[in-house]
Amino acid sequence: MLDVSLIEPCFDAANSYLLQSGTDFAVVDCGVFDPAFDAFLKARGVTQLRYILLTHGHYDHILGANALKEKYGGELVISAGDADCLTDERRSLNAYARFGTQTPVEADRAVSDGDALPFGDGNITVLSTPGHTPGGVCYLIEDCLFSGDTLFCRSIGRSDLPGGNTLTLLRSLETLKALPGNYRVFPGHGEETTLDAERRWNPFLR
Ligand SMILES: [Zn+2]
Repeated sequence: MLDVSLIEPCFDAANSYLLQSGTDFAVVDCGVFDPAFDAFLKARGVTQLRYILLTHGHYDHILGANALKEKYGGELVISAGDADCLTDERRSLNAYARFGTQTPVEADRAVSDGDALPFGDGNITVLSTPGHTPGGVCYLIEDCLFSGDTLFCRSIGRSDLPGGNTLTLLRSLETLKALPGNYRVFPGHGEETTLDAERRWNPFLR
């Protein structure tokens, strides 16, 4: 049984989530790894992460991943299409945003659509959703969808940043809309929602 908690973002960082299933822990996205983030993990008994799952390579989702991994371990997972963001701060856009210092780091696993990562007594499935970035992905586990900057509550991610593509993003949103059943949706920014609510109320999904 999956347990999900939001790790409150600081500054302009993206949402991070802590996932627990059985004795396995994973974090989704890490823009900033600060003492509050560390204390949050400690308070929940985390000593070792199995994965650090990155939805895409933008600075506000990745810059803390290196320090998080140094302290808690875990396989650093990103799509093959965005893996170069971890070593190239023009690709992560940190060169322009100057969000923080980017320490180049190699991905441990570059994933593609349909890949399954064993987690707890189930799997985390990778769903390719490009458009906000060339290699944006969502992660699916049980009835939870981690949507990064592809889908937000009543909104969608930008497609006008370098590497973005509006038509590709709209196609990815069609893919999400066509998923069978309902999901709890945990976006990269803003509040939690559900796929059914977005199918009904999100103007980009109707
Ligand atoms: Zn982004």
